Amino acid sequence: MQDPTALLSSIFGFSGFRPGQAEIVDAVMAGKNTLAIMPTGGGKSLCFQLPALCRDGVTVVISPLIALMRDQVRSLRETGVEAGALTSGNTDEETESVFAALDAGSLKLLYMAPERLASSGTLALLRRINTTLIAVDEAHCVSQWGHDFRPDYLRIGELRRSLGVPLAAFTATADEETRAEIVTRLFDGVQPETFLRGFDRPNIHLAFAVKDTPRTQILRFAAARKGQSGIVYCATRAKTETLGQALREAGHSACHYHGGMEAEDRRRVEIRFQREDGLIVVATIAFGMGIDKPDIRWVAHADLPKSIEGYYQEIGRAGRDGAPAETLTLYGQDDIRLRRSQIDEGVAPPDRKAADHARLNALLGLAEATACRRQVLLGYFGETSEPCGNCDLCDRPADLFDATDAVRKALSAILRTGEWFGAGHLIDILTGTPTPKVKERGHDQLPTYAVGRDLTKPAWGAVFRQMMGRDLVRPDPDRHGALRMTDAARPILRGEENITLRRDTVASAQPRVAIKT
Ligand code: ADP
Ligand code: ZN
Repeated sequence: MQDPTALLSSIFGFSGFRPGQAEIVDAVMAGKNTLAIMPTGGGKSLCFQLPALCRDGVTVVISPLIALMRDQVRSLRETGVEAGALTSGNTDEETESVFAALDAGSLKLLYMAPERLASSGTLALLRRINTTLIAVDEAHCVSQWGHDFRPDYLRIGELRRSLGVPLAAFTATADEETRAEIVTRLFDGVQPETFLRGFDRPNIHLAFAVKDTPRTQILRFAAARKGQSGIVYCATRAKTETLGQALREAGHSACHYHGGMEAEDRRRVEIRFQREDGLIVVATIAFGMGIDKPDIRWVAHADLPKSIEGYYQEIGRAGRDGAPAETLTLYGQDDIRLRRSQIDEGVAPPDRKAADHARLNALLGLAEATACRRQVLLGYFGETSEPCGNCDLCDRPADLFDATDAVRKALSAILRTGEWFGAGHLIDILTGTPTPKVKERGHDQLPTYAVGRDLTKPAWGAVFRQMMGRDLVRPDPDRHGALRMTDAARPILRGEENITLRRDTVASAQPRVAIKT
């Protein structure tokens, strides 16, 4: 066997390992079953390519994306490494040269789409060519709960058993369930050597803010960073266009980007962004996949991202050069309500919906964090860390209060009105606001009427938002989004548990600035 460190520079031209790589390479070299969880761009491919070159025999690489396989094979071949791919995108010549190299015993890495495993000849082939290692890229594709499920990934476990060789699995998806499922399906439930490293991006400043005057908030954030390249992510295509326009009117160089645009127009934006300094792209999450610009100085989310993984990936586009970069994520009650209803109204089976709610809860836990935000973020990925000193909550600790009493009053208002109303009406009841709706329904006669006068309406808004975020109450799509209590709230209602919330309503309590929307 060859020494991996020597090949690191002679073949790949790298001066050293990135965080986490050396340990993974050692374990794979030693023939152990391994599961490595690393962020996108963390350098996973090296962790199987290097051992593949040093070990005897052939390494089979299962990967879900043909384009990615072809890229890797091309760059390996450019450095003189014998690698090939068997995919549906091959020309006849390509396939033939792969088989010729296999017959000559010179091929070191054989890339293959999972669909190939369905054909009966594949196992015989892999036996014949002395396969000594299976590497699985994007291993989370084996998870049925994930969004990238590929049924043919389920055949990999069987392949490992019948070849009797070690397997190295790689993924950037970190949540517990997915990890557990990878262990079950790829390793027969026997925990492989597991590596989890390098999720921290210490140069990126993290900050969240409650949506208050969203357009003004984004314009203010951009104005403080004029002339720097940035991305604003929006939930809808229409919003990318209006917000792009608003930024241009405010004197920025800005354009929009979304999946509904002609490929040509999208390409033009990508090229401009890559080449120009100080351009702002206002985009849906369609923007970013192929963007490799090192000096993006900031990323803002005008709407709550889809998941922690999504958030992490999107903010991770900032500050690739290691220099300070800033982020701001806006979120509000409407985001939470919308996301909950989308899950509930979807066609997924009940336990999938429960898993999606749990994922959303994790994201909202990050948004409503009460101490260092990076600790919460890294904790989600399984990493422990010290308070970072580079997030909004390290800069300025959250103003917390014991909200047990307030939450119980809110729950009581919900229950006494039969779980048929939204936050607005409930707040009118709690604050004793005699609106026509309150009087019509006789809600001014309830024992809970006006029991919440100690808090302002915006303060109650924050309480309800955080109750939704902690999943104590949930909008019911069959009742026009009326809030209903969940089981998680029962211990608080019964007085068995206390709850601490943030009193972050200072901004919302200010009179709104007049802006056009
Ligand atoms: P991913 O984890 O997303 O699969 P890649 O394996 O594509 O990431 O690696 C991301 C980038 O990092 C590539 O451009 C690769 O060449 C580079 N890279 C990987 N390892 C090292 C290293 N030890 N030193 C410098 N660059 C590295
Ligand atoms: Zn911090």
